[in-house]
Amino acid sequence: MKEDILHNLEIINQRIKYACEKAGRNSDEVKLLLATKTVSVERIKIALKNGQTLIAENKVQELKEKYEDLKDIPHENHFIGHLQTNKTKDILKYDVSCVQSLDRLDLAEKLHQRLLLEGKTMDVLIQVNTSNEESKFGIHPDNVVELIKNVSKLDTLKIKGLMTIGLFSVETEKVRACFKLLKKLQQEIIQQNIPNVEMKELSMGMSGDLETAIEEGSTIVRVGTAVFGTRIYPDSYYWDETLNL
Ligand SMILES: *Cc1c(COP(=O)(O)O)cnc(C)c1O
Repeated sequence: MKEDILHNLEIINQRIKYACEKAGRNSDEVKLLLATKTVSVERIKIALKNGQTLIAENKVQELKEKYEDLKDIPHENHFIGHLQTNKTKDILKYDVSCVQSLDRLDLAEKLHQRLLLEGKTMDVLIQVNTSNEESKFGIHPDNVVELIKNVSKLDTLKIKGLMTIGLFSVETEKVRACFKLLKKLQQEIIQQNIPNVEMKELSMGMSGDLETAIEEGSTIVRVGTAVFGTRIYPDSYYWDETLNL
């Protein structure tokens, strides 16, 4: 088990390195985030004890279950799943430093209220639905600027960039179009010069499409399967808005 994970991490780091070289980018511009949904704490610990520092869960329940076992190992926790408005309190309890899946104003407002109460701030990325699939979470590209303007007024929330899940397709150019769109939105937002908004991070690319994402400017790739192996649940369990989670 340990050897497999370490070997997989080595391969992923190589893939990131080659993709950066190919794109003429420095490999320290791209962070590796481990998507740990369904992964046991034993396996996560192997990664954290061998150089990895950034992990993310999709569900508050899993975050909660693993929290005690992982909290003494130095690492950073992001949240990358659909966040229910009534779970914002928990996100603060379990030391999440960045919610990458902020996609609506009512959630932002709830988070802000909670953060104010606790005297804290939180990094956020705005999740955009770039693949035009109805079942996916994320704000529609046409509404991103407006959402960001509104969220920027909530001063406990520090907008650091954008996140997307690319189209699931073997047709690389269709996947690439999603990443290009996220980059284009980033540039548009930068031009608007909105106070309290940074646009440095582009969280895009996963096990199957990280090379394309890096070519298009990704700064955070989120990898699960390629490090920890296939999961027992289909991704629709986490991503499909039509399934009532
Ligand atoms: C599961 C997940 C990933 C990682 O996907 P893999 O294909 O297993 O690498 C990335 N981002 C999000 C939002 C996820 O839910």
